[in-house]
Amino acid sequence: MAAAHFRENRALNGIDVTKPAQPASHHPHGAADNVDAAEIAKFDSLASRWWDPTGDFRPLHEINPLRLDYIGQCAPLRDRKVVDIGCGGGILTESMAAAGAHVTGIDMADGPLAVARLHQAETGSDIEYLHATAEAHAEERPGQYDIVTCLEMLEHVPRPATVVAACAALVRPAGDVFFSTLNRNPKAFVLAIIGAEYLLRLVPAGTHEYRKFIRPSELEAWGRHAGLELRATIGLQYNPLLRRYSLGPDIDVNYLMHFQRPK
Ligand code: SAH
Repeated sequence: MAAAHFRENRALNGIDVTKPAQPASHHPHGAADNVDAAEIAKFDSLASRWWDPTGDFRPLHEINPLRLDYIGQCAPLRDRKVVDIGCGGGILTESMAAAGAHVTGIDMADGPLAVARLHQAETGSDIEYLHATAEAHAEERPGQYDIVTCLEMLEHVPRPATVVAACAALVRPAGDVFFSTLNRNPKAFVLAIIGAEYLLRLVPAGTHEYRKFIRPSELEAWGRHAGLELRATIGLQYNPLLRRYSLGPDIDVNYLMHFQRPK
């Protein structure tokens, strides 16, 4: 609905609002237009379902203990300053706060942010939620975080490398940065799109676009160009028979990358 409304407005005004108001080069991180309005509208329209553990975001609920564990093992969370980029309704954000971190969650979709704020009021956690892009936040708080997490978000932005650079700018020297996304190869297409969206219906059809998937080699290169060092890559697999996710060496479909900023 929201996406259709957006398209209609665009047609009526005859102005392509997806284009930056000024050339991207006028912006320090080239980020003025690094937001896909249709993606934001999609997440806005799904916002009310965010915390239903059996609903549209069920996979995020199911993988959360695994990714939280992995992050905590690589970078202990207690008393750390963490920023969660593209936090959505706050599934990972809240779990990191519960583990003792001081967390800021940023997102560009108002619906999920509103849901996140309501949910934290219910659980009594203390999280700062902000409507911001990674790039804008990096200008405000460069080097101020011990840990930066950016999970399941890069495959929804026009220029993910710019987000990676912003994450590198947000973390302090020797701090940790985590990304997760979907790999781009025929197996990922079959499992993540055909399997997850159409056969198993784990997520709504249209959640992901294959061409926006990211190969580990690409993510590694973007991290390196941003001055980060790759520490580890780990895969996240789904077993449709057991209906269970697990972490392991298979990075063909879903994977996480852990980077560090040099001292
Ligand atoms: N990271 C969360 C949510 C993933 S869903 C988790 O893993 O649990 C992807 C989120 O990224 C959505 O909430 C969407 O609104 C947000 N997003 C998409 N493009 C964005 C952008 N350019 N800047 C900030 N957030 C963005």
